Amino acid sequence: MLEVLVSVPTLLLCTFLSTLVVAVFLSQHWASGRAPAAAVYWCVAMWIGSASSVFLALRAVIAPELSIGLGNALAALAYAMTWGGFRSFDGRRVSRLAVAAAPVAWCLAYGLSDTFAADMNLRVILMSVIVVVYSLAIAAEVMRGRKGEPLPSRRFIAVLLALHAVFYGLRIPFTLLAPVSDGAQPYVSPWFAAFAVEIFVHTVVLSVSVLILLKERSEAIYRQAARSDALTGILNRGAFMEETASMLRRHPQGGVLMLLDLDHFKAINDTYGHQAGDKVLQRFTGAVSAKLRGEMVFGRFGGEEFALFAPALDLDEATAFADALRRDIEGLEIGHYGTMISATVSIGVSSVVLSGGDIDSLVASADFALYRAKAEGRNRSCVAGPAESLMQIAGRMRLADFEAPLTSVAR
Ligand code: GH3
Ligand code: MG
Ligand code: MG
Repeated sequence: MLEVLVSVPTLLLCTFLSTLVVAVFLSQHWASGRAPAAAVYWCVAMWIGSASSVFLALRAVIAPELSIGLGNALAALAYAMTWGGFRSFDGRRVSRLAVAAAPVAWCLAYGLSDTFAADMNLRVILMSVIVVVYSLAIAAEVMRGRKGEPLPSRRFIAVLLALHAVFYGLRIPFTLLAPVSDGAQPYVSPWFAAFAVEIFVHTVVLSVSVLILLKERSEAIYRQAARSDALTGILNRGAFMEETASMLRRHPQGGVLMLLDLDHFKAINDTYGHQAGDKVLQRFTGAVSAKLRGEMVFGRFGGEEFALFAPALDLDEATAFADALRRDIEGLEIGHYGTMISATVSIGVSSVVLSGGDIDSLVASADFALYRAKAEGRNRSCVAGPAESLMQIAGRMRLADFEAPLTSVAR
């Protein structure tokens, strides 16, 4: 039935048109100078694939050496280049030998063996082996990269390629059980027509998928840039608030928030220069990041002020953690053009138990505690007590008007 409905040359023409459109898009991307190497591989693969479809479609018109010989060699090369693109996409080396292997194998078989060149079934088997190997290799590459970069389309592409490998692999038993006639009407075979439809659909979907994959990566890069602080690489204020709010929704019953402010940081800038100040900020974030454990969230609030949310710590643990952190920072030796710079930090701590699970309340309470840590001499951590938490909840009174003592851990 399908063989009556489907004209393989027409399908090949449609394949040519769809890969051509993607090839033009990718060429434009390449010309922009911003395309990654993977896009270049895929662009070349699309052009080669388009040319291959034309040669294969013109089978009844041009010499078999061009149509079958060159057409299939180009198809094998297009698959190999597509595979190269997927390896390059994840920063892996692309072996030229592995790319050349399939087209060279095809050319050798076709050029050196008259039996092979004259037998359509042998040709179908070799091309099937080539396609199955590259399809499975691509599926494996895409999944390998998923751990480090879980782009949404990765799994879809891997499944698509694995199914394609299964489908293409099935051509081998079909060829053996029901050989195709290579006569005047070479495509009159129900199974051959069915596979031709699958190849067309697969090519269209895969071509579009590589565009989507490139788009997903650039979106992920922009999203990451929008969430991180350019100098230190940690979360920026917006992302910190977002992460902490979501953590508070998941663990509403506990946790502590710390505000960390470097002491007399302006003096560091004034004495050693802004560049040295930047280095201190980077070393500071490195030291804090090294101490993070569990689901702790750490971000730059702005300037020399940072925030840390620890969902699993109670107040006692938080006090110990903050003090250990403070001592680590005190012990940092930051070299800058032959001079050693040191820094200290003051930390204000608030807790969900005393201030509630609202992030703004937690920040306000920690801010009060930080203010007190500064006022008491800096280089210390200070915990917002119940009165202070109540005060920020009331939101009307100023710290200066409030007499209740705060718990502080002096150096
Ligand atoms: P305190 O102990 O009271 O916190 O004093 P401080 O000097 O640390 O605080 P102040 O708010 O007076 O000064 C903060 C300085 O941080 C001023 C600003 O120039 C500097 N700063 C803010 N962002 C950056 C940055 O990205 N790089 C550098 N080098 N300096 C920064
Ligand atoms: Mg400061
Ligand atoms: Mg400050």
